[in-house]
Amino acid sequence: MPAPLQKIQTNQALPDSADAVVIGGGIVGAFAAYYLARRGLKVALLEKGRVGAEQSSRNWGWCRQQNRDARELPIATKSLELWERFAADTGEDTGFRRCGLLYLSNDDAELDAWARWGTFARSAGVTTHMLDSAQASEHGRASGRIWKGGVFSPSDGTADPSRAAPAVARAIMALGGSVHQHCAARGIETTAGRLTAVVTEKGTIRTPVAVMAGGAWASSFCRQLHVRFPQASIRSSILSVSGAGELPNALHTAHVSVTRRGDGGYTLAISGRGRVDPTPQQIRFTAQFLPMFLRRWRSLAPGSAEGWRCGHETLARWRLDAPTPMERMRVLDPAPDQSTIALTYRRACELLPSLAKSHITAAWAGYIDSTPDGVPGIGEIESVPGFILAAGFSGHGFGIAPGAGHMVASLVAGAEHLVDPSPYHPNRFQTAAWGKVADF
Ligand SMILES: Cc1cc2nc3c(=O)[nH]c(=O)nc-3n(C[C@H](O)[C@H](O)[C@H](O)COP(=O)(O)OP(=O)(O)OC[C@H]3O[C@@H](n4cnc5c(N)ncnc54)[C@H](O)[C@@H]3O)c2cc1C
Repeated sequence: MPAPLQKIQTNQALPDSADAVVIGGGIVGAFAAYYLARRGLKVALLEKGRVGAEQSSRNWGWCRQQNRDARELPIATKSLELWERFAADTGEDTGFRRCGLLYLSNDDAELDAWARWGTFARSAGVTTHMLDSAQASEHGRASGRIWKGGVFSPSDGTADPSRAAPAVARAIMALGGSVHQHCAARGIETTAGRLTAVVTEKGTIRTPVAVMAGGAWASSFCRQLHVRFPQASIRSSILSVSGAGELPNALHTAHVSVTRRGDGGYTLAISGRGRVDPTPQQIRFTAQFLPMFLRRWRSLAPGSAEGWRCGHETLARWRLDAPTPMERMRVLDPAPDQSTIALTYRRACELLPSLAKSHITAAWAGYIDSTPDGVPGIGEIESVPGFILAAGFSGHGFGIAPGAGHMVASLVAGAEHLVDPSPYHPNRFQTAAWGKVADF
């Protein structure tokens, strides 16, 4: 069974023109289009498959400040407020709740790292509590174990990946924007170097602004425009189970993580674990990703030819008047790694004995689009005025999507930003220099 995802009805007729076109109907593109529409712009959101069907419905749903890299902490904090405000402003339910996130450990080095992060985070105004052994064991009582320590971050939370992107898409349409599923953007047109239109499989939309929020497809799309965007995707496997007793809403341990789902079941996963499926693009960008892979090698394993077959990391150049790789692969739906699924379920049942009464309801995989430093690229591409990148969310994009979408809209409108956008500017990808790899 694939990842659960709400179906929505969207617009059929493509507009001839728009103030802005957003390419990619994942959670980032949806929030970008939503905030553009809220600013009164005429916006069209294009999705080659179904809204939310790639990473945005396949994740754990964590919206966290806890353990965020310093560069992402401000946008993570603002995003939590925006998740709440979105529900209040639209009446749509993304499933977002500040349920708190619980981290438990018996490893001194891990506890020390969390404590160091806590000191930094408190200086930035974030509420996070280190737990001593008694407190950690009480918070983690469903495990029946004594823990050395842990962290609880009460203002963090989760949203429901099966509902969030569709809810935002409905809100865009309610504001007068249009959303188009089964409509791939093939490329752009320019006049005197400036973007003037987006070419889709269903026609051309005249526009001065296009936002590329295509997730794992962003780099190959940028390549068509001679824009270098180093991106590599990691295949991560995950499963859901039926409900089984009173478990924490969101629990992380080094061995396995557990998240309560909107349907009462739980999502189980092993943090950071994934398969590297070789692709033409990965080979091209190997040098850029060396620091990242060296840092994470313990949890990454070589994958299969799946990534090559999917075509999202092709180096091919395509025409605008013929079907592209995006039309051949409407939804990236890689096979889950069965050994990881079995291991995850076993570890979860060992950690939380009541899960032994549950049954597996679904298992799936998703390609996590990463940048070399683990920080997204958000900003206008200088060589193509009017073309804005919002991709490379490196496994953190669900939680920070409202902040990222808001940033894109502020950029387009020339308005003040909620947080400093400079750490995300894609200019940094134009040099071969290695940036600091994100801490968590
Ligand atoms: C297993 C897993 C667990 C994760 N857990 C978390 C978590 O707990 N918290 C968190 O914050 N993040 C998490 N993430 C990461 C998070 O899911 C992503 O960072 C986020 O969903 C990225 O959103 P996006 O909109 O950029 O990309 P996507 O959701 O991948 O959407 C991109 C969309 O663009 C469309 N598209 C691409 N090219 C075109 C085109 N040319 N024309 C039209 N449409 C196009 C695609 O079809 C796709 O629907 C996880 C990811 C995975 C896979």
